[in-house]
Amino acid sequence: MRTLNILFILMSFLATGGGCEKKPPAGMNCDNESIAGEFSESQLAGLNRHQDKIRAGYLGISGTDLPEKLAQNGMNLALVKFNYVHYPLLSEEKELFLRWAKKCQEAGIKFMPVINLWGRHENEWIKPKHTLYFGGLHYNQTPCPLDEETYQLAVHKRILEVARLSHAAAIEGVVIDPEMYGANLTNFPEYCLCDHCFNLFAENEFLELPLRPELRQDYLIRTKKINSYRVFTEKTIEMLTAETRKQLASVAPDFKIGIFHHNIARPYYRGILKGLATGADPLLVFTEQTYSTGYSSFIRSLQDEWSVLGVKARLVVGIWQDKFPPENLAEQYYYCAKDSFGYWIYTTESLSRNMNKVLPFNKNQYWQAIREANNELDKLEKYPDYKSSLRIRSFLPPSTVPNISNINITSVQYVGKTSLVPGVKIISDLSFRQKTTLVFIARQREEINFKISMRKYGQNNVQSAIVVLSNYSGEQLAHSLVTFQKNAELRFTAPYTGAYATAFNPGGNAAKVVSYSHPFSIVVNETVGLLGPKQSLFLWKPAGSMEARLWLEVDGPGESVVATFKKGGGAILGEYDILHRHNITLALHKNQQGEIIELIFRPRPGAVLEDVRLKVDSGLGKYMSLSKDSLLRDIERQMPIPGYVH
Ligand SMILES: [Zn+2]
Ligand SMILES: [Zn+2]
Repeated sequence: MRTLNILFILMSFLATGGGCEKKPPAGMNCDNESIAGEFSESQLAGLNRHQDKIRAGYLGISGTDLPEKLAQNGMNLALVKFNYVHYPLLSEEKELFLRWAKKCQEAGIKFMPVINLWGRHENEWIKPKHTLYFGGLHYNQTPCPLDEETYQLAVHKRILEVARLSHAAAIEGVVIDPEMYGANLTNFPEYCLCDHCFNLFAENEFLELPLRPELRQDYLIRTKKINSYRVFTEKTIEMLTAETRKQLASVAPDFKIGIFHHNIARPYYRGILKGLATGADPLLVFTEQTYSTGYSSFIRSLQDEWSVLGVKARLVVGIWQDKFPPENLAEQYYYCAKDSFGYWIYTTESLSRNMNKVLPFNKNQYWQAIREANNELDKLEKYPDYKSSLRIRSFLPPSTVPNISNINITSVQYVGKTSLVPGVKIISDLSFRQKTTLVFIARQREEINFKISMRKYGQNNVQSAIVVLSNYSGEQLAHSLVTFQKNAELRFTAPYTGAYATAFNPGGNAAKVVSYSHPFSIVVNETVGLLGPKQSLFLWKPAGSMEARLWLEVDGPGESVVATFKKGGGAILGEYDILHRHNITLALHKNQQGEIIELIFRPRPGAVLEDVRLKVDSGLGKYMSLSKDSLLRDIERQMPIPGYVH
């Protein structure tokens, strides 16, 4: 769609006053661009016919054994995430779609691929003409939400391309995942004030312009146009998505569209929801809002809200299976589906035989819950008045379990030359959030002893976590439970001389090492979440490394930090203001020995030091430590005993 076209429709829309002030009369809409109507109670019941209900499993493309297994256990839809989807489709991408369509068809289950709006690979082939400007900041890795070329490539053309594939293959529809894994922000803010957006709005409103970007928000607030700006944002994306829906009707009328993240209460997401809900076939909304809460009055109230808005959508309720004890899952699946258009499970990939992922309980218990729920739903299909004996019961979320299957420690040694005497010590106040892996070296027959505490932090309902002691190849040696009241204590006699790991995942809570028997380093080639890192941290620059790549992330300007990288002698290598996610390329001097690099965080003026997330991509060792003595580095030689040198 051309800008001119949008402008024309926008002008006619804004001329009518813009926006619905109150509920429109039954059967009518506040603007005539939308063909959605308002539901009555019976229409809503008709939308959610028991015979059509969705029982979906979400999975990635490594879960090749799942379509068959899901079908055998009464599921009827596979939601498969594809991270690489170019426009036009590369031949191997097309092949993969067709293979999955065939696999699902043979298994007797429907298939809907899931595509990212802006995942980690879209920026490799889509170069947004306009990027996001909001809150006084340019987000150069985040497209402008109203950038038409980005929309065309990321959404419109890819939907139509997959829809065309459905002529020759069993593809039920496509799901768009708007969470932007590849951007500086994972969701769009209220609006974008880039030149493109602001000029488009200004032309419509016949404003005197141009205005410098940093003055725009104040201007809109002062002149009381900020609400019109929100409406403009919503309407623009609504028109783009409605056009996609319209063209889809001529390409593949029965092809379904689904979305994730419908419920962000911002103009962009409301616009997407309304625009995509204009087809003859209702939009499928796969909510994540229910991931860890499960069945609640939200299911009813969301559908009522859509009814009032005239949004023609069907709700499919998402359940994150790890967040529930398996014995409570059947009732959750059943009642969520009963009062909506179905349920979907995040993520059935954990149930795949191909994945080494640790679930809090035995996989069979999860399959059993799925079977039980689907048997009950079968009965509901047959007898609409069926009364199940299942009941929603309260539950405590299960303990989080760290994934240790990817631990693979090759030969390491401490950077320090002095031999370390193990002994229990108390360390600093640094806490960790989410998955954390600590690595250390112990000699055969030494006693390993780590104590980990956990305190409640932030909005999350994780009550307990399992701390795991692993050997160098990711096999569990011991484990211990940590709660808010009780520390975990790992106690184990080292069976060999070499490297070990202590791993835990407190979710959003704060975990701390209370005491330890062996000096440890933190694994930083996977994301680590530090809470209030006040003291110096140490990284290893291997000999010959000329350039380090890493990223740092904070939760917005209020928690922004200055990150300083120093050489051993104290010379500053680089200093960075971190206001959100920041990719850093650090130029290093080539030297023979390798050296220790110190990393210091301090809050920016007016900000508080809280969450700092970090990941090393290349050019530095994969360990970070709290003291120079405990810093580990990889060594090249293969040791006779894994992971150790004297
Ligand atoms: Zn790519
Ligand atoms: Zn913009």
